[in-house]
Amino acid sequence: MSQHQDLIDRDRKVTFHASTHLRDFAHGDAPGRVISGGQGINIVDKDGREFIDGFAGLYCVNIGYGRKEIAEAIYNQAMEISYYHTYVGHSNEPQIALSERILKIAGMGMSKVYYGMSGSDANETQLKIVRYYNNVLGRPQKKKVISRMRGYHGSGIASGSLTGLKAFHDHFDLPIETIRHTEAPHYYLRAAEQHDMTEREFSAFCAQKLEAMILEEGPDTVAAFIGEPVLGTGGIVPPPEGYWEQIQAVLNKYDVLLIADEVVCGFGRTGADFGSHFYGIKPDLITIAKGLTSAYQPLSGVIVGDKVWSVLEQGTGEYGPIGHGWTYSGHALGCAAAIANLDIIEREGLVANAAETGAYFQQQLKATFGDHPLLGDVRGVGLMAALEFSPDAVGRAHFDPALKVGPRVAAAALEENLIARAMPQGDILGFAPPLTINRSEVDEMLGRAKRAVDKVTDELVRAGDL
Ligand code: PMP
Repeated sequence: MSQHQDLIDRDRKVTFHASTHLRDFAHGDAPGRVISGGQGINIVDKDGREFIDGFAGLYCVNIGYGRKEIAEAIYNQAMEISYYHTYVGHSNEPQIALSERILKIAGMGMSKVYYGMSGSDANETQLKIVRYYNNVLGRPQKKKVISRMRGYHGSGIASGSLTGLKAFHDHFDLPIETIRHTEAPHYYLRAAEQHDMTEREFSAFCAQKLEAMILEEGPDTVAAFIGEPVLGTGGIVPPPEGYWEQIQAVLNKYDVLLIADEVVCGFGRTGADFGSHFYGIKPDLITIAKGLTSAYQPLSGVIVGDKVWSVLEQGTGEYGPIGHGWTYSGHALGCAAAIANLDIIEREGLVANAAETGAYFQQQLKATFGDHPLLGDVRGVGLMAALEFSPDAVGRAHFDPALKVGPRVAAAALEENLIARAMPQGDILGFAPPLTINRSEVDEMLGRAKRAVDKVTDELVRAGDL
C-alpha cells in the first residue's frame, strides 16, 4: 500500500478526475497516485518512487521536468504584472515577443497568433474562425468541417466532435451536426480489401474517400479539413507515403481550408519545428499548445495564415470588433513561460535531438520489437512511437478486447517504473518522451518496455491466448 494513501483517500472524496472510471476511483477500486517531483525525463511520486516518463506527461513536457529557468521566468513576470486582459488592443510584452517568435518559427505565410489555454479551446477558436471567414465571404452555407476517424482535437462539445474516437462521443450525444469524419490514414489497419495496396496507393484511396465525401456533402457546404500531421491519441500513426500531398490536392480543388492541429507535433516532436514542415503541409490555420510551454503553464494558440487573416480583417469593418475572446487570452505568465521554453529548445538543440536521438530510438524500437511474437506493428517518427499488439502480424488480427492486452502491457511497464501510454483505441502502447532524452536513457526505457512486453506475452502463452 502507498505511504501516501491518506492523500489519495482525500482525493477520492473531492476530485472529479479526467479520463478516469468515476465510480471505481471514488470508491477505492481504482488506483491513485500523487506526483510530487520530477527531473529530466523522470517523475517521482509522494512515496519517492521514480519513473521514467516515457510519455512526457501527455506528450507535452518537451524540455523535461524540473527546469528552474522557467520558474524564474514566471516569477519575474509575476513581479511585474501577472495578468491584464488583452481585449480591445491591450497587450503585454511577453505576448508581443512570443507572437513574433512563433511566426518566425512557423513561416509558411502565417501572419497572426491568437492565444487560449488548451488545445481544445484553440480548436473551438478554429471552428469559429472558419465560420466567420465564410460569413464574411458571403458563403453562409459553407460551414461543415471534415475531420478523421481516430483524429484527436479535444474534448469540448465542438472540439470533441472533431475528435474521431468513439469514447469521446458516446454518452455525450456527439458529434454535433456540421462535423464529418473521413478515413483514418492508418496503413497497418487498412481493411482486407486494401490489403495489397502500397502506402502510396492507400494514400490515394484516403484522398479519394475525402473527395467522395466532399462531393456527397456538396463542395459549397464544406469549409475546412482538420488533421494532425501524425495521428496522435488515435494510435501514434505517421501518415502513409504521399498522404498529405494527395489530401491537399483535393482540398485545393474544392476551396476547403486546411487546419493543421500541431498540438502534439509542434515544437519539435517529429524532429522538425512543426509536423507541417516535416511533411510539407501548407496549412491555412495551425493549432498549437502542449510543447509551446512544455506544460509549465497552460497556453495554446491559433496561428492564422495570410489568406484567412485578410478575410477576417474585412469582416471587422462590417461587423465591428470580433465577438470572440477568453478572459485569459495572451496571459502574461503563460507567454513568459513559453518564451523561456522556446529559449531552452533553441539553446539545447532539442529539435535536432528529436531527429537524431529520435532516429536511434526508432531503430532500437524496431530492433527490439520488430520480430516479437506480441507485435503487429512498430511505427513512429522523431520522438513519438507506438507498438500495436496483435496475435497475428501478417493477418493483422486483433486480440479479444476482454484480454486488455494494451492496458496490461502498460501496467507491466509501470511495475518496471516506466510510464508508457495505453492508447484509448486498440491494443497500442505509446511512447513520447521529453525531447531531452539521450541514447542511454532510450536504452533504459526500451529495456524496461521489453521486460513488460515479455511478461504479458508469457502470461498470454500460458493462458493459451497467444
Ligand atoms: N489536439 C491534439 C492533437 C491533442 O493531442 C490534444 C490533447 N491531447 C488536443 C488537441 C486537446 O488539447 P487539450 O487537452 O489541451 O484541450
